[in-house]
Amino acid sequence: MTLLLPTSTAGSLPKPSWLAEPEKIWSPWALEGKQLIEAKQDALRVTLQEQAQAGIDIVSDGEQTRQHFVTTFIEHLDGVDFKQRETVKIRDRYEASVPTVVGAVSRTKSVFVDDAKFLRAQTDQPIKWALPGPMTMIDTLYDNHYKSREELAWEFAKILNQEARELEAAGVDIIQFDEPAFNVFFDDVNDWGVATLERAIEGLKCETAVHICYGYGIKANNDWKKTLGSEWRQYEKAFPKLQQSSIDIISLECQNSHVPMDLIELIRGKKVMIGAIDVATDTIETAEEVANTLRKALQFVDADKLYPSTNCGMAPLSRSVARGKLEALSAGAAIVRQELTA
Ligand SMILES: [Zn+2]
Repeated sequence: MTLLLPTSTAGSLPKPSWLAEPEKIWSPWALEGKQLIEAKQDALRVTLQEQAQAGIDIVSDGEQTRQHFVTTFIEHLDGVDFKQRETVKIRDRYEASVPTVVGAVSRTKSVFVDDAKFLRAQTDQPIKWALPGPMTMIDTLYDNHYKSREELAWEFAKILNQEARELEAAGVDIIQFDEPAFNVFFDDVNDWGVATLERAIEGLKCETAVHICYGYGIKANNDWKKTLGSEWRQYEKAFPKLQQSSIDIISLECQNSHVPMDLIELIRGKKVMIGAIDVATDTIETAEEVANTLRKALQFVDADKLYPSTNCGMAPLSRSVARGKLEALSAGAAIVRQELTA
């Protein structure tokens, strides 16, 4: 990117009520069959226009094409039985009924490539596409086949690489892997988590990103955050390994979080998507609040490597709040951009 401080969002954006029940995650679709395909495409057009109008530089599908950032990808794979469900603790935090791995996992056809081609056809702006990361995928399943978290993660990494190569060919500029699990399972991150992520990006020429956050603004996550104390140092555990990895961009939660900004020094040299929008509150940031967060980050990130973004996805928010937050992000980035070029 030649533009200084290009803005983007971490992931999902609210869905219109005619597509799915609004303001919740895992929301069921309101339509089916051909009507659903058309509605998803229409919602994608709308979210794209909203991002463009708000002045977002790197745009996405706002995840209008998927029900959930992890499950929808897994639904398209062989080896996972969605009828056979077990209750597991997701990210050691909250219980959920999840599908079971019953055999070797494989991808028999592409998952999001047609959706990405559709997005590519709608805009000339740089586009970012999100995929779940291998560690976050295994954390959302019950494994009755491999019986090894690491082995299953390597299998998913291979599958993600197949999908990523096709997304790149479809014209995606940045492929992002969502790895909130990197903030929880520190030993695994260092033993094989970052390595499986690198397997997922093997051979890609487009830019790659990893998004590590403290989750959506849902109750289970908000309760968990209350137990983390006044300083959140989770990033410290994964950063040294990520700094040495071949991932280009690291996407972080910084707005209203208790993450000490100086931890970002540990990934010096990487491009950093700085979350300058809090997704766990309906209060819309002022442009000056966004600018302040970006200014603090600039102490630890070179200006040409700073990408203003949101803390996480905004699917659970109302559309008007999300729009307001996108505008605040652009306005805050514009203030700092002007300061840097003055
Ligand atoms: Zn997130």
